[in-house]
Amino acid sequence: MQTPQAAAPFLQIQDVVKDFGAGAVAVDHVSLDIAQGEIFALLGSSGCGKTTLLRMLAGFETPSSGRIVLGGQNLVGVPPHQRPINMMFQSYALFPHLSVWDNIAFGLRREGLPRDAVNERVQAMLALVQLGSYAKRKPHQLSGGQQQRVALARSLAKRPKLLLLDEPLGALDKKLRERTQIELVNIIQEVGVTCVMVTHDQEEAMTMANRIAVMSEGRLLQVGAPAEIYETPANRFVADFIGSVNLMEGRLSCDNPDHVIIDCADCQHYVGHGISGSEGMSLAVGLRPEKIQLSNTEPEGAYNKAQGVVQELSYFGAYTLYHLRLASGQMLRVSQANAQRHRDGELRWGDSAWAHWSDSAQVVLTH
Ligand code: ATP
Repeated sequence: MQTPQAAAPFLQIQDVVKDFGAGAVAVDHVSLDIAQGEIFALLGSSGCGKTTLLRMLAGFETPSSGRIVLGGQNLVGVPPHQRPINMMFQSYALFPHLSVWDNIAFGLRREGLPRDAVNERVQAMLALVQLGSYAKRKPHQLSGGQQQRVALARSLAKRPKLLLLDEPLGALDKKLRERTQIELVNIIQEVGVTCVMVTHDQEEAMTMANRIAVMSEGRLLQVGAPAEIYETPANRFVADFIGSVNLMEGRLSCDNPDHVIIDCADCQHYVGHGISGSEGMSLAVGLRPEKIQLSNTEPEGAYNKAQGVVQELSYFGAYTLYHLRLASGQMLRVSQANAQRHRDGELRWGDSAWAHWSDSAQVVLTH
């Protein structure tokens, strides 16, 4: 997915703090620029402050300090209903006694839009979310995914400049969630509305967002495109939070401009690029399970290999996940794609095996 280019940031969050008192700083000096048309995800575990930040954008909470600027207008002090913003809640908050049509029309009528304009807008929204033939139904006569689309249609009907999504697909089961994620992105992109979403589900963030901010304890740890965050995490927390990673603690034993060597308990890492560090410093090497290969025999060379015993093995269809116990006791997770139906020399529980990886597989983490 391409990140939309924009000259000036459309949404600016400038050094925003939310202190609830008694030591509860939910959002701690957060600054962020979001481009027009971007789908941006705030990702973090429970209590990291992402909902509080979203609620400040909506106007339901007031920042203790800092500014929120949308399209050049400072929003702090502007009440929620006067902001060009709409928030779609996790529970959808559809009116159960109103039809799909009336749910979508509700906000437009309250704004005093003329009848013809309301009809035109509702019809366009129903077409957008492909629910034209469901206009007369009540919410309880719809599936979860359909209710989700009505909620989105209602949020977009007022043509907000900024759409806020709070755990948008939290109520849907896994299969439906995957399909709806793509549907929502297509609709949001078709309308071109800028979107900030909150989620604790990293797959949801990776599938839907152009950029992601990983939050912990009220702070932003890293902001970047999904691939950037996954392949070049800024620190141990992000590496561990996004996807699965093997973290090996070690020491920098050889520091060259074009490569470094890191000594860990079970292996010596040869990393094919320089890092900013100094010999002897402690650091961690992150190694994703899918970037490791397994073999029954010892690979050539002195670096980037470790011997272990298969301790656990889980078959997931598309891939098999091995847990290899290394000499130090560390467990190394290795995933092998099941590209063929049968493989020669397949490893079993208790087998001794060699894990090996290339000199571009690792991420060196100095923080
Ligand atoms: P979740 O995914 O569980 O909703 P979150 O990342 O959205 O979590 P927030 O709801 O933003 O987290 O809460 C961040 C922190 O601020 C938490 O420690 C929470 O207890 C605290 N907090 C939130 N609202 C209030 C409030 N009104 N008064 C005091 N503390 C609050």
